[in-house]
Amino acid sequence: MIFRQLFDYETWTYTYLIADEKTGEAALIDSVAERAERDAQLLKDLGLKLKYLMETHVHADHITGVTRIKKHFPTALSVVSEAGGAPCADILTQEGEVYTLGELEIKVLSTPGHTNGCVSYLMEDRVFTGDALFIRGTGRTDFQQGDAGKLYDGITQKLFTLPEATWVYPGHDYAGNLVSTIGEEKRFNPRLAGKSREEFITLMSQLNLPHPKKIAESVPANLRCGSEIALAVALN
Ligand code: FE
Repeated sequence: MIFRQLFDYETWTYTYLIADEKTGEAALIDSVAERAERDAQLLKDLGLKLKYLMETHVHADHITGVTRIKKHFPTALSVVSEAGGAPCADILTQEGEVYTLGELEIKVLSTPGHTNGCVSYLMEDRVFTGDALFIRGTGRTDFQQGDAGKLYDGITQKLFTLPEATWVYPGHDYAGNLVSTIGEEKRFNPRLAGKSREEFITLMSQLNLPHPKKIAESVPANLRCGSEIALAVALN
């Protein structure tokens, strides 16, 4: 397997490249428009065939790189949750769907609450949690149909029931962490460890975070799958 963790230093977003070494089939999870050329070049350097451009959710802080990367890999298929409200995606996915890269399998877990359409992607001993579960944190739940109760249920019933050694690769990290494990987050995540559903909901209602800088441009652009028109408006 080929695996790379890539970083967007403007929005603290991680993009993940996964590929099957034998067939060269590849997927990118959560690409960023401003880093599209970097990612396309890396795929070309490694001689990979991009099969899927997967999103963990409709992002509020950056515009997806889907449209720009597709110019280099026109047969790649975008994958967004059916509940995400972006019908422009090539594949509208849901809980339990499985996508293959050669012999690698990527399974969809529905983990809503940060947004209604959030999914995590499970591949062997790695789970890509998007903005559901962060390292020592969680995604926020105060916009985009956020629902702290749903987030708690998804994390505790789906992510925290994975083997403890499962690697957790989040959608962002704001403190310099790269990776954690399910066991580590169960024990040390301050929003979840020893917290009841009610305590989590109360805690999430009191965060008072500022909105992401690019939310007004990002959400509408991502609901259009980062189309060129949406990109031109948002990035000019
Ligand atoms: Fe998000």
